[in-house]
Amino acid sequence: MKNIQCAVALGSNLGNSFNILEETIHIFRQLSEVYLKSYSHWYETVPIGPPQPNYLNGCAILETYLAPDKLLEILFKIEQQWGRVHRERWGPRTLDLDLLLYGDLILETDILTVPHPHMTRRGFVLVPLAEISPHWVHPVSKKKIIQLLDKVDCSGVNLYQTN
Ligand code: ADP
Ligand code: MG
Repeated sequence: MKNIQCAVALGSNLGNSFNILEETIHIFRQLSEVYLKSYSHWYETVPIGPPQPNYLNGCAILETYLAPDKLLEILFKIEQQWGRVHRERWGPRTLDLDLLLYGDLILETDILTVPHPHMTRRGFVLVPLAEISPHWVHPVSKKKIIQLLDKVDCSGVNLYQTN
């Protein structure tokens, strides 16, 4: 079976976000269907949407032989382990896992759109993704992640200091 390289965005702004994100990386490491290739630093980011606490955001590169919908199911299950319920759009959440890129696949179904439709406009996605995968070519815009990053406002995205 062929392994496909995927990019996943992690975000949290409820509970102990640092622990939740670190623990989620640990969960990725333990999944047999997925190989964790790399992950970014965490960034503290000013939220969009309704007033809510700042987020911690980051990205991970996974390799998997799973089909995109199966990978999304796993991501949803991990979200649910943190008590995530899909309620208010863009509202606060213990853990949000978004599938940003699945190789160079372009797909749109009722439950899944890849590349993630908002990723090209979000500094809190592009800053951590550019840290670990600057030269990945976004299959719709045909631009590299670093080129996309160049076009967005990153003023609300700051490296999170753990000490
Ligand atoms: P958001 O991440 O945009 O803040 P949610 O996490 O609440 O919103 O997800 C809303 C819906 O987005 C989910 O039910 C999921 O089926 C759908 N979705 C579509 N494409 C993707 C993707 N690439 N990654 C994650 N969820 C996606
Ligand atoms: Mg989501």
